[in-house]
Amino acid sequence: MTARPELSVLLETARVVSVPLLTTFRGITNREALLFEGETGWAEWSPFLEYPDDEARTWLQAALDQGFGPKRELGEVNLNATLPAVNGSEIETLLARFGSFDTVKIKVAESGQTIGQDLSRVAEVRRLYPEAAIRLDANGGFSVEEALALAAQVGELDYFEQPCRTIGELAELRVKLSGAVRVAADESVRKVDDPMAVVYAGAADVLVLKVQPLGGVTRALELANECGLPVTVSSALETAVGLQAGFALATALGGNTAHGLGTLRLFENVDVFSNQALASEDRREWWLKRLERCFI
Ligand SMILES: [Mg+2]
Repeated sequence: MTARPELSVLLETARVVSVPLLTTFRGITNREALLFEGETGWAEWSPFLEYPDDEARTWLQAALDQGFGPKRELGEVNLNATLPAVNGSEIETLLARFGSFDTVKIKVAESGQTIGQDLSRVAEVRRLYPEAAIRLDANGGFSVEEALALAAQVGELDYFEQPCRTIGELAELRVKLSGAVRVAADESVRKVDDPMAVVYAGAADVLVLKVQPLGGVTRALELANECGLPVTVSSALETAVGLQAGFALATALGGNTAHGLGTLRLFENVDVFSNQALASEDRREWWLKRLERCFI
């Protein structure tokens, strides 16, 4: 990595954007991000608003790696469609935006919803796209028993991502599923001190790697090599700028698995470099202060 830039270098080009989403996703309707121009191109820093500074600092390392680290190749990458926890006609409308795909990741375990609603969402996807492989993502929202109940009724899955919150629960679930469904770890990789802990615990068959939470493409590549498991690259709902780092990671990994980097389809069509994308002055102030705190 090249020398770390001064804060003033980031501030010179800092651009705070707020891009509207088509539907509420993980409780937000607009995605805010701070973009800056580095030596190798534009970079994105977009820790979610509620994240503490400690966590946001790791995301900043990723942004610095994107803007000032090694220049990386971008190749063709197979993408999955991503379906938020919606029901009814919204399913068809949202999936249609992804064009052609061979894999759909479906959000389940949304707070306030039932397993019945999850099952009907999956059934509707299977009706619309009978050939597509199905992945579920519970964001840790189920108990072991609930995850088992859903797995027993849902039919064939490519994998079940973060069905439960803790590594212990994932390990227990994996034993109880006895290979019937692969378990993927996401939060258990990026929200813990040691991203390899879930691997050592035998708690996952697949790792989901996200560039910003892991501190950058360089670190994510090391982890992919170290874990010895199949890897899916997924976005952290970045704008078009931050997504480029995910594409760089997926390109470097090679293979043909479908990666979760098609999430721009969940955004309104707003160019992040247009005036329309600019955040309000008070949101810009908020982000610049956050940057000053996290840049240490
Ligand atoms: Mg996930």
